[in-house]
Parts: sequence; structure tokens; C-alpha cells
Amino acid sequence: MTTNRTFTMIKPDAVENGHIGGILEKITSAGFKIVAMKYTQLSTRDAQEFYAVHNERPFYGELVEFMSRGPIVAAILEKDNAVDDFRALIGATNPAEAAEGTIRKLFASNIAENAVHGSDSDENAAIEGAFHFSGREIY
Ligand code: GDP
Repeated sequence: MTTNRTFTMIKPDAVENGHIGGILEKITSAGFKIVAMKYTQLSTRDAQEFYAVHNERPFYGELVEFMSRGPIVAAILEKDNAVDDFRALIGATNPAEAAEGTIRKLFASNIAENAVHGSDSDENAAIEGAFHFSGREIY
């Protein structure tokens, strides 16, 4: 089943570099409606849990340290075909390989510090959204 929602985070590198406004502008200009949003910071434990699927990968420790080192913006976005369209808008994991005009091409530093997260499936979008937001925080 496809849904019309995805989950995103503006990662600590993009927040540190002053790109919150620029990234939100790209997101809303592309037709995504923000249905939930918060400025927050992941604890080490939060980041370990959020990225548990990657815990066998060699960069897991680095990823957890990076994602918990400063504040992020977490949001649930709504649009037809949200998951796939948002993955297209953010571009490849490695900004060096991301298409022109994508968020990662414009705002990311490297494959590790790549500015934004976007859910990779409807199932994960629902799990990740519920990780950050209660029903009362989604509009
Ligand atoms: P995504 O779905 O495009 O975010 O990519 P993945 O699911 O493969 O990886 C999750 C996140 O781990 C990426 O967005 C990066 O922040 C980080 N990451 C991916 N590859 C590497 C790597 O080779 N080294 C490090 N340090 N981090 C990585």
C-alpha cells in the first residue's frame, strides 16, 4: 500500500551551516505540506535506536555520533507519492553523485554529513514519524 506521507530530518550539519530556511523552502516549493515539525536534538540512545537497522555497518558509530551532536529539524511531509518524490528531491546519499538542484547537491558536505534524511519506504516513514511525533502533534 502506498501512503502520501514521508518523514525527514534536517541533519546537524545543515543546521550548523544555516540551511534550515533554504531546505524548508525547497521542500515546500516542491509541493510538500508540513503536517508535523519540531526542532530537537537526538540523544546518543535516540540515534542508536533510530539507525538500528544500520548497526552492522562500519559507519554506525560515526553516524550515531554525527546525528546526536547538535539540533535537527524533524518533520512529517504530505504529498502524493511522498516517499519516492522526496527521495528524488533530496538526491543520492553521496552529494558528489546527487543530481543538480537536489537538496543534497545544494546543501550537503559529504556522504556522511549529507544534510537531510528521507524515509526509504512507506513502512519506514510511518515508523520514523511515530518515533518523533505523537498523534496530537500531527496536523
Ligand atoms: P540514505 O537512505 O540515502 O540516507 O542512505 P543510507 O540508508 O545508505 O545511510 C544512512 C545514512 O548513513 C546516510 O544518510 C549518511 O548520513 C550515513 N552514511 C551512509 N554511508 C556512509 C559512509 O560511508 N560513512 C559514513 N560515516 N556515513 C555514511
